[in-house]
Amino acid sequence: MRTSQLFLNTLKEAPSEAELISHKLMVRAGLIKKLGSGLYTWMPLGLRVLRKIETIVRDEMNKAGAQEMLMPTIQPAELWQESGRWAVFGPQMLKIKDRHDRDFCYGPTHEEVITDIARSELRSYKQLPQNWYQIQAKFRDEIRPRFGVMRAREFVMKDSYSFDADFAGLEVAYGKMYTAYSNVCTRLGLKFRAVAADTGAIGGSGSHEFQVLADAGEDLLAYNPDSDYAANVELAPAFAPETPRAAPAEQMRDVDTPKQTTCEAVAQLLGIGIDRTVKLIALVGGEGQFIVALLRGDHSLNEVKLGKVAGVGEFRFATEEEIRARFNCPPGFLGPVGIASDITVIADLTVNAMSDFVVGANKPKFHLAGVNFGRDLPEPTVVADIRNVVVGDKAPDGKGTLDICRGIEVGHIFQLRTKYSAALNATYVAEDGSQKHFEMGCYGIGVSRIVAAAIEQNHDERGIIFSAAMAPFEVAVVAVGYHRSEAVKAAADALYNALIAAGVDALLDDRNERPGSMFADMELLGIPHRVTIGDKGLAEGAVEYVARAGGEMQKVGVADAAAFVR
Ligand code: ATP
Ligand code: MG
Ligand code: MG
Ligand code: MG
Repeated sequence: MRTSQLFLNTLKEAPSEAELISHKLMVRAGLIKKLGSGLYTWMPLGLRVLRKIETIVRDEMNKAGAQEMLMPTIQPAELWQESGRWAVFGPQMLKIKDRHDRDFCYGPTHEEVITDIARSELRSYKQLPQNWYQIQAKFRDEIRPRFGVMRAREFVMKDSYSFDADFAGLEVAYGKMYTAYSNVCTRLGLKFRAVAADTGAIGGSGSHEFQVLADAGEDLLAYNPDSDYAANVELAPAFAPETPRAAPAEQMRDVDTPKQTTCEAVAQLLGIGIDRTVKLIALVGGEGQFIVALLRGDHSLNEVKLGKVAGVGEFRFATEEEIRARFNCPPGFLGPVGIASDITVIADLTVNAMSDFVVGANKPKFHLAGVNFGRDLPEPTVVADIRNVVVGDKAPDGKGTLDICRGIEVGHIFQLRTKYSAALNATYVAEDGSQKHFEMGCYGIGVSRIVAAAIEQNHDERGIIFSAAMAPFEVAVVAVGYHRSEAVKAAADALYNALIAAGVDALLDDRNERPGSMFADMELLGIPHRVTIGDKGLAEGAVEYVARAGGEMQKVGVADAAAFVR
């Protein structure tokens, strides 16, 4: 491809609504274009990236013995009524009626459909095991779509489903998917961790998430640096402390809290505008109640307000008497902090459109999550503490102590066992002639989310740094003076043609632009290798090579250039 033919529309500024760097860079590089809330078009450059990820996912799935298929996005309500999820899936499911007034949904996931296929197609143990997958759009009416394609409403997922005769078979299938997912992440050049996870709305028994390590991640991961133990802190039971801590947050689950609303509510509660730094203290009292307070510089309390987190965040002001009575505070409570021994300063908190609030609520599911270290909270230990996991806690595997980091969930694998096969009565004839329910697994990778996660992990002030595996182009050949120098034109065309012939996905920048703006575009796009051809270099018989990820510029002989970047 030549830039003179490519649709390239890079922007200097990101839209103001873009909060995360990955979202900003994807829009600035022209990879995606917003259509509506949580709805994005993959522009030609962006689609190249998406397709490269799909290709690797497909390759690993095929290698693991899975077979590709394609199910409809629109699903009849009857199947979901059979599994019982029509009523319980909640508002994330987009329900639709057709012209005959029949109920459908736009599939948020495909367990019901695949189980329905299996129950009519798979009759005998002789047909097992099977693993079927698709790469396709899902729709989830996320309460707060944000971060661009990271948390979209319509997004691309590779979902697969395994059918086995028994649990031993499921374990083998699960193991293959675990390996395939690890391979995908490795091939894409992602720094990731596979962690034990909660099974959430999908249900079932064992489960792992594949988490891309990044500070902007919405998930907190506890891991043992000295062993392979790692878990999402949502997986509460593993962290039940031996002795309750002073202000226990019983468990931490990332309930789909409307975080913007919460942020605004807290700002309102504190009587401050967005974009202020305050000290937040919490004293956990009755059901889901807490106190937030503004501290003056000298650490005496400026204002204390009582908040009640009621799932969606309801806050109200409380009188001093009420607070004293509710929390049994000593009379000096509203004086210096030191007087009330059970007050803990949680953090200096920056209240802005990005901040979510961690509040030590003492009721499961009444926990608001999503504060970022460094940005909103000074130290991970503080967050960990109010979530009942402290850096340095004994690891559940007994082999050392826990550390905590943040991650972006890009993949999730589940052992469903017979949850769906039993609900839909999907059976096969076993070797002994009896009817048995399939042992099922399901496996999801957020193909579109991976693009954002990778950028979140790999970028600098100049833009995206893609790995060669997912970059829109592997090599940029920047021809300085293509339109005025015959020598440059000839050398650039020759190198470009040699690269294409060698199967390298090269982009020839043949625009009549200033070198600076050509470099800036190639850097913003994150193209991993760049070769610059200009008259000056050619006079010495050389071109210049530089890697996007950093390192010195190197001079390479014109004749050796194609082999060098390959
Ligand atoms: P999250 O915790 O981020 O809401 P999830 O646990 O609901 O994700 P799963 O049901 O496990 O998601 O779906 C499998 C994969 O689909 C996830 O690991 C993630 O990569 C991707 N995914 C889920 N929701 C979204 C979304 N709203 N936008 C983009 N990708 C998503
Ligand atoms: Mg979700
Ligand atoms: Mg999740
Ligand atoms: Mg998940």
